[in-house]
Amino acid sequence: MKECELCGRESELMKARIEDTVLSVCKKCCYLGIKIEEAEKAVTQKISDKIQLTEIIPDFAQKIKNAREEAGISKTDLANKLGISPSLLTRIEKGMRPTDKIVKKLEKALNISLFYKETVIATKTEKLPEVTLGDVVQLRLRKK
Ligand SMILES: [Zn+2]
Repeated sequence: MKECELCGRESELMKARIEDTVLSVCKKCCYLGIKIEEAEKAVTQKISDKIQLTEIIPDFAQKIKNAREEAGISKTDLANKLGISPSLLTRIEKGMRPTDKIVKKLEKALNISLFYKETVIATKTEKLPEVTLGDVVQLRLRKK
């Protein structure tokens, strides 16, 4: 009988692809070869994330001011309608980023759109902890 090219055991040999080499190995090492192929496949995994961003338009302050003036609503009236203080509304019209809750109220009260949606697809390939031939062989040797 011939010796297994991997473990040296005398046994009935069969071909197994281990990493990039085809070896004549015993039944047990052949199984090991298959296991390595599976491990290689698991090394990388593709992660795709669809991220939906909801952001407020950059010129929201001007848009709010214009829409309010066009509708002929005073700052105080609009602030009352929104349930916020007139000074807060003044700050918003000067460029202070309002909370999303206030933005939604402003959109409704003034019949304007202040949000825009952007879909970003982020794809990354993550490398998983590698299982090398050495690791598997060592594992097997320790088991003996
Ligand atoms: Zn073997």
